[in-house]
Parts: sequence; structure tokens; C-alpha cells
Amino acid sequence: MNNTLIHKEESVKVPLINEDFYKDIFHQNSGAEYAQAVKLAQERVANFLKNNRKPFSGIRPEEIRTKVEQIDLASPLPDYESLLNEVDELYVKHATAYHLPEYIAHLNCPVVIPALAAEILISAINSSQDTYDQSAGGTFIERKLIDWTSEQIGYREGDGIFTAGGSQSNLMGLLLARDYYALHYQKQNIKLDGLPSDASKFRIFVSDKAHFSNHKNAWILGLGEQSIVHVGVDHRYRMNPEELEKAIADEIEKGNIPIAITATAGTTDFGNVDPLIAIADIAGRYNLWLHVDAAYGCGLLLTDKHRHLLNGIELADSVTIDYHKSFFQPISSSAFIVKNKLHLNIIKHHADYLNPKEQNYDALPAQINKSIIQSTRRFDALKLWFTLRYMGKEKLGQFTDTIIETTQKTAEYIESDQKFELLCHSDMGVLVFRYLGDSAKNSSCKVNQYIKEKLFFSGEVLVASTKVNGEFYLKFTIFNPITTLSDIKKILNLIKQNGDEYYGLN
Ligand SMILES: *Cc1c(COP(=O)(O)O)cnc(C)c1O
Repeated sequence: MNNTLIHKEESVKVPLINEDFYKDIFHQNSGAEYAQAVKLAQERVANFLKNNRKPFSGIRPEEIRTKVEQIDLASPLPDYESLLNEVDELYVKHATAYHLPEYIAHLNCPVVIPALAAEILISAINSSQDTYDQSAGGTFIERKLIDWTSEQIGYREGDGIFTAGGSQSNLMGLLLARDYYALHYQKQNIKLDGLPSDASKFRIFVSDKAHFSNHKNAWILGLGEQSIVHVGVDHRYRMNPEELEKAIADEIEKGNIPIAITATAGTTDFGNVDPLIAIADIAGRYNLWLHVDAAYGCGLLLTDKHRHLLNGIELADSVTIDYHKSFFQPISSSAFIVKNKLHLNIIKHHADYLNPKEQNYDALPAQINKSIIQSTRRFDALKLWFTLRYMGKEKLGQFTDTIIETTQKTAEYIESDQKFELLCHSDMGVLVFRYLGDSAKNSSCKVNQYIKEKLFFSGEVLVASTKVNGEFYLKFTIFNPITTLSDIKKILNLIKQNGDEYYGLN
């Protein structure tokens, strides 16, 4: 077609301005449309709860990939019914059901209902937490929850910010550690001038079982993974303070510059808490920033019975909290908390259109001043608000107590069975073990791999795995307070059956 033949006015199509055209936008006249769409979506959630009796459908990647690839994004569907039917086939039917006892794999908690109700408000009203003029009450609700979390840790002058997750919170911890070191000891402002010439000598100490985000974060911060020094662990895979001190001395002797320690409160693989008091003492003596990664272990803040496991956390310079793990919140909900609120000034950056330098932030606050990566930021704090205001801290703590109790009983049960080998007890809810069977004749790695995969594609039970000293182990993450020892015994029986089947004993 020759465009030049079309008269200019004809080529511009102005959409008809009527109600129907704008019905899909959330606005003052589309309340009914909104309510109907959400109601239909909620029905699918109800079906998900009703129909999913197994944690996974067992669908193979080839099959689901083809289903998704066949969808033509250029042709929208006529109504919500067909849209939801399609999404059911592509997603809901095959979604991993974290709420079932047979899901016992990764650090995915079941979520609490008040937080789900909060999600409705969060997404529809869609406040962005960067400045007061975008979220008035939201700004103060977030601040109050940060202050509350600070108090639970034991900080007096703490502050912090909600983040997207533990990896991001850990990044903030190492960023402050790095920039604080350079500012304080080298009079070098990394934000303005970039890394100091000796930055490649900066060293960060983590245990062998610390989360991998520490390594990625060291890379993102321009220090490289080479800056991470691995410290040996004790029989429960907790950082060994003597080895920590030795590692620090070794690095100093090599001419390197220790700047920080990341201790883990609740390791991903074992759920154990590093000895925080001893580590804090060493951090103090060597003037190192201490960051505590409590992404998982933060749940211990909620329980009087087990809170002592976190003793010493109040001595850390900064802490990572994942509410979307041990506070039973929907993803995302996490926080970065610092002991000394002034340290957050390191990351402040002023933009004339958003948070100009001359503004008085005591009078007109702006959470953006405390955020490193996100500018537009969800009001995730409202979920925790709903949870604390409706259920209260104590009830969450009872969930944690129950999980710990079930885990201890499970550990004893595994130990009592000749066919299993338990590697280690847990402060929280993670148990690493393997099926032994007739291990004298066979490699136990292969049979355990077989068991895990067989269970996964049957969809009956989802367990995780990990490697310890090159050996393959099965891993339970017990994260559901409703799960009982008898649920877990059934799972262990299935594991045994599959192991026996592998060896042809049946
Ligand atoms: C899960 C986890 C993280 C990462 O948190 P995300 O929210 O997944 O980014 C960090 N540290 C530990 C110990 C964890 O268990």
C-alpha cells in the first residue's frame, strides 16, 4: 500500500471514547469490572486448594514448554473465563503447592491469610514507597515495621528498608561494609570516586555454608569472588570462630585487608546459627563490619523459647531479614536493618525531581533515600502489618516453635532407622540425610538421586538435595507448622520403598 495516497487526517485513528474502551483500566467507573475479575481469579485459587492433593503434577519440561510456546500473544482472549482456563493449563495445575505437607523441599513457607488480603490492597492501590507524596501512610507504616524489627533484634538506633529479598539485603550489608571501610579508614568516597586502588585486597569472611549471594554480591561490588574467604565449620556446619580468627590473621599477613564478616543465622543447608557472640567479639577486635544473614533464622526473633539462639545478633552492624521465609509472608517481603541509622546516609543519592538535596526529610520523609536498587517500590510492608495486627507476633512464634519441635522429632526418628543416615541436627527446620540401604555394595549417591527424581516426577513428594563433601544427600526443609511427624513418616516410608526398589529388594 502506498501511504502517501492516504490523506493525513484519515491515517490518524482516534479511539472512541466510551466506557467500554476504558473498562480495563482501574478507575472510578470500573469498580464492577475489577470486582468481577478478582472474583473469577479467586475461584481459581479456591480450586487450586481443593484440587491439588499432590505438591506437583509431575509434568515434564518438554510438555509444559510446548504448551506455553504455542500461545499466540498477538491474539487476546475474549473473556476472563477463557483467560483463566488457559492459565490453569499453563500454570495453576502445575504450580508447586507449598502448602502441602508433602512439599518438604526448599525454603518456601506456606503463607498467612491476612497477608494475602493485604496483597489485594497493595496491588490495586499500587502505592510506590519512594516518597511521601506517593505513599503517605505507607511511608510511616513501613517505618514503624522497620523500627519494630530493629527492636526485636535489640537495636536502639536502628533503621532500615524493605527490600525484594535476602540477596538484595545481603548486598546492602556488604555495600555499607565496603564503603564504610573506605570512608572511615581510607578517607575515600567510593560513591563519588570509585574503588580505591587497593580494593582488590579487601577481604570478606563467610563460612563454608554461607549463602551464595555473598559471592555474587562481592562480584557486583567490584571486589570479585576472590575477596570471599571461606572459614571452616564445626560438626553442625556453623562457622568455627577459631578458624575465623586464624583466617583473618592469615589474610593480614598476606597483606590483604579484612573489611567484613558475614555470619549466617540459619544456614540454607542445615538451618543452624553461627556462634554470633564469638564472631561479634572477633569483629570488634579487628574492627570489621559484621553483617548477620538472618534471611532464614529471623523466625527465631518471634519465639521466647528459641530466641536465645540469636543472642549476639544485636552486636551486628547490619542484618538481613526475610519475612517471606520465616514470617510466612508471600513473596516479596524482606528487610535490611542497620544498627546505626546514620550508616544508611552512605547510600543517599539526590535527584532533583524526586528527593532534592534541600528538602527537610524529617518533615517530609522519603524512603528512597534508603534504597539502593529499587526506586519504584511495592508497599510490601502492608502484608506484615496485616499479619502483626491481625495474628500478632506470638502466634507466628508458635508456628516457629512447632516447626522446630517437629524437626527434632523427625531427626530422632531418622536416626533410629538403620536404613537412614542423618548428617546433622538443626536449630530450625532443615535435615540433611540419606537412604543407605545396602551401601556396602552400592554407591549411596546414585540411589538417593534416583529416589529424589522418582518422587519429583510422580508428584507425590518433593524433597530437596545437596552435596556435602562431594556426596549426594536428601534434604528436608520443614517449613509448615501443620506438617506432623506422621506426615513425615509417610514420606520417609516412600523414600525407603523407592530406595529398596532401586536395589531390587522388593
Ligand atoms: C534464602 C536465603 C537468602 C536469599 O534470600 P532471597 O530472598 O531468596 O533473595 C540469603 N541467605 C540465606 C541464608 C537464605 O536462606
